[in-house]
Amino acid sequence: MIQHLKNKPLSEPEIFDMLIPSEKVAHVHLANPLEHALLVLIKSGYTAIPVLDPSFKLHGLISKSLILDSLLGLEQIEMDRLSEKSVGDVMDNEVPTIYIDETFAKALTLVINHPFICVLDEDNSFIALLTRRSILALVSKYLHQVEAN
Ligand code: AMP
Repeated sequence: MIQHLKNKPLSEPEIFDMLIPSEKVAHVHLANPLEHALLVLIKSGYTAIPVLDPSFKLHGLISKSLILDSLLGLEQIEMDRLSEKSVGDVMDNEVPTIYIDETFAKALTLVINHPFICVLDEDNSFIALLTRRSILALVSKYLHQVEAN
């Protein structure tokens, strides 16, 4: 029953297994030049990735569109800005986050408007990423189990 997932914390093995652990998450640092962030984004194929500091504290998200917007001059694309500006100058500070002890229901609500959410531990350190894709996969699994019964 899908209802049984509702109040389960993300730390519950069934949900925890769907998280992408921080060591497998492509990320950049605040001080990295935009050029580096763009390379990571293009090579990874991801639309947006977390911005962390060396102690794995989460500061924001950086995306291809934010970088391209920041290059827009009055009449041309200012390519020099790729090396002049840093990730911290153009990142989005509004990051959808959830604590590892919060519920599946909260994660489900958050992914309505966000393709992924950042999972934090009690020290506010970034520990994982949870994607809308994983949440939908789990919901789908439960719905099909119900059909089969
Ligand atoms: P997906 O569900 O795989 O399409 O991922 C949705 C979004 O989540 C991607 O476009 C990225 O912004 C982010 N994402 C997923 N996996 C990773 C990862 N390993 N590292 C960084 N960002 C990721």
